[in-house]
Amino acid sequence: MLTEKQLQNFAELAVRVGANMQKGQEVVIRCDVNCQDFAHLIAQKAYEFGAKKVHMEWRDEKLDRINMLNATKDAICDIPKYQTELWNYFIDRKCCLISISAEDPNKYKGCDANKLSAYQIAFQTARQLFRNATMSNYLRWTIVSVPTPEWAKQVFPNDPVNVAVDKMWDAIARIMRLDTPDPTAAWRKHIETLVSRAKFLTEHNFEYIHMKNKTGTDLKVGLAEGHVWIAAEEDGQDGVPFTANMPTEEVFTAPHNRKIDGTVVNALPLVNNGNVIDDFSITFKDGKVVDYKAKIGYDALKGLLESDEGVLSLGEIALIGKNSPIAQSGILFYNTLFDENASCHLAFGASYPTTVKGGNDMTDEQLAARGMNQSIQHVDFMVGTKDIDIDGIGYDGKVVPIFRDGDWII
Ligand code: ZN
Ligand code: ZN
Repeated sequence: MLTEKQLQNFAELAVRVGANMQKGQEVVIRCDVNCQDFAHLIAQKAYEFGAKKVHMEWRDEKLDRINMLNATKDAICDIPKYQTELWNYFIDRKCCLISISAEDPNKYKGCDANKLSAYQIAFQTARQLFRNATMSNYLRWTIVSVPTPEWAKQVFPNDPVNVAVDKMWDAIARIMRLDTPDPTAAWRKHIETLVSRAKFLTEHNFEYIHMKNKTGTDLKVGLAEGHVWIAAEEDGQDGVPFTANMPTEEVFTAPHNRKIDGTVVNALPLVNNGNVIDDFSITFKDGKVVDYKAKIGYDALKGLLESDEGVLSLGEIALIGKNSPIAQSGILFYNTLFDENASCHLAFGASYPTTVKGGNDMTDEQLAARGMNQSIQHVDFMVGTKDIDIDGIGYDGKVVPIFRDGDWII
């Protein structure tokens, strides 16, 4: 368990380093009802640092499950208008968004995969404007996590619940650098290292990234024309920097959605909507999935890959060394925020407009011309094994080693 001081520091990180809330700004906290104590602590911190008003967008994952099991597909896909209006209100007010992500990995276990993916499409479609506002950095946003009993039990199944929750807090304290005297300063230093790697990669302007390992990954990922590598800190459209994921260890950019060839094998399970997909491989040709296999969760993978056209290509390639604190914890968190920071990953679906120069001012057609992928989905899956080698290949064919045996060498 964290000390009161560490909890205060954690809430401060979310407000000041994560969303980088500015004085006089309105804040939206999105949080499940089971994490209300931490949400209230963040709300209090936000006011200490000058928030104008704090809004709560309460989620209730237990009710979500009851609805998924009992409501008809039509009923569940009927997203109420007031919901969209609320999101539009947050955009109009230029709120910053702090999400507390602590989902039960088994939230939708055993639910109808068809109903689930239909719901997901309906939900994402209704939420498109709000998602555009965050993905394009019109609104500053951040995600943090705190343990819940359901989540901790999944991560440490052999421990009694209270021990499991304590172990989760310990892990999160180390990963969030809350065990250092000044976590905000520790984060600033960490962000600097990541940003300098991103700068190196952007300056090389590689045509392809080549990933290869012994488990069968041999994939060439073309990069979007005019791509920019991004790490840790981004600028909001108002020029104010923020850190979208806390923790973050990744340096990422946009693939070219017509230039991806080869096969990739997953390194960690993919948990999508509470379904675990594992032991899978995906084969691409000319930027599109042409074949896939999965020993665990094939139907869930199939449901995902049939959800729209764009999900068959990639919207993100992200590099993370095997010595990051999350990778070193050796814990599988069943939560993307942590697991994606334990391993190099790719994402099915949408690219971030911010990963191409001037992307926020481009039309969908202009983005597509650069190779930027578009989709209602954005689903990360982990591919970075301890032995992965990664090279950058320039437009002149020159090869620059980036990773050897799973870690950075630049
Ligand atoms: Zn990522
Ligand atoms: Zn991603």
